Amino acid sequence: MDSRKFGGPIQAAPVDPHIQAAVQQISPQRIEQDISTLVSFHNRSTLSSNDRDLPAGQGVLAAADWIEAQFRADSAACGGCLEVKRDTFVQAPGSRIAQPTEMNNIYAVLRGSDPAQAGRMYLVTGHYDSRDSSNEDTHGAAPGANDDASGVAVSLESARVLSKLHFPATLVFAAVAGEEQGLYGSAHLAKFAKEQGWDLEGVLNNDIVGGNTTPGDTLQNKNVVRVFSEGIPANASEQQLRMIRMLGGESDSPSRELARAIADVDETYFTTSGAGRRPFHPVLVFRLDRYLRGGDHHSFNLQGFPAVRFTEWREDFNHQHQDVRVENGVQYGDLLKYVDFNYVARVARLNAATLATLASAPGTPKNARIVTQVLDNTTTLAWDAPEGAPAGTTYQIVWRDTSAPDWQFYDSVGAVTQVTVPVSPDNVIFGIRSANQAGQRSPAAFPFPAHFHTPPLPKK
Ligand SMILES: [Zn+2]
Repeated sequence: MDSRKFGGPIQAAPVDPHIQAAVQQISPQRIEQDISTLVSFHNRSTLSSNDRDLPAGQGVLAAADWIEAQFRADSAACGGCLEVKRDTFVQAPGSRIAQPTEMNNIYAVLRGSDPAQAGRMYLVTGHYDSRDSSNEDTHGAAPGANDDASGVAVSLESARVLSKLHFPATLVFAAVAGEEQGLYGSAHLAKFAKEQGWDLEGVLNNDIVGGNTTPGDTLQNKNVVRVFSEGIPANASEQQLRMIRMLGGESDSPSRELARAIADVDETYFTTSGAGRRPFHPVLVFRLDRYLRGGDHHSFNLQGFPAVRFTEWREDFNHQHQDVRVENGVQYGDLLKYVDFNYVARVARLNAATLATLASAPGTPKNARIVTQVLDNTTTLAWDAPEGAPAGTTYQIVWRDTSAPDWQFYDSVGAVTQVTVPVSPDNVIFGIRSANQAGQRSPAAFPFPAHFHTPPLPKK
């Protein structure tokens, strides 16, 4: 029996009306206010924290104060439901930092309502620092409307609408600094998360999600957002790399499974059935990031956390990292007028629906494995229940052709943690995901051969 004669075609999960209602509250008007305010700080270079001559209301510290105040206002509006944190640290000099520099990560924690699952966390982030043509300039205009006030607006707006709800797992809404000097804020936060033992199941990094609108540009596509994810985990061990090469596991890192889960959420909330053309959807880009560019999700990958990057379809590099000026009739600069607030709202809705869904679903199955004791045309899969799996948790086996980008088939197997299916492991790639009674499901776990999980032999 092959994969097409067993199981059913993959299907979208049911809509959760609470999540749908929350997501609909995301407001392009508030997003416009947020981005306008961030632009009003004139230059948000992280290096400006060393300046003592800035007018009041300018520079990166003024921006940090304002972001913290937003999270505190959200918390006040939900009876103190958010823990608002300001993590201040001094970054040692580096290639783009001449002297020790104060940096501030601002984040708000919506603690999970289920004590057994509150240790599981999902985090959304954007960077609030900006820059112009010169890394050292802290006084010229560096509006950073798209890069990355747009991403910060996604974190702020997600916090506003989701703090009105309760989720079993924990959500973290973050804005980080120092991205432009070398991902310093996110590196600090990711390291802190690792040290604190956060069970961070996914990080959504939004960087340049403004839907750049340059007059005359006919190639921008406002119906899509790119979602970048690493294929091979940055922290994979030599042994894991050997297995990945052998099994064709190059496209099944936890970050890649997170990207597929985002597409799954999109199917539920943003794809109208029968309309022919999908109105707004993520395009999964199977690479870590754009050419010659980096982003904050990589900091989390380096610490072993699944993390992806959202970025608009088509960037205009005249509107990033540029002094505001007109040259030969061309306007340069990351100006407010090129940001499409309705587009940012669409990206924010996809982020918020993803955070809400994955914090509602049970965690990803742990220790997923293929039990291969004999050569066989059936597959035995086994896994451990995720941390704090609630009563009623069931599991789905998903699979796809080895050449297919996303899951094609599934079979619901109930509450068991081991199953044998009549599909050859040689012909497909399997995943295992958890589902709750409402049908909300986790990202899939990629199973490694069971014997792989025994301790490795000492090297000769
Ligand atoms: Zn950026």
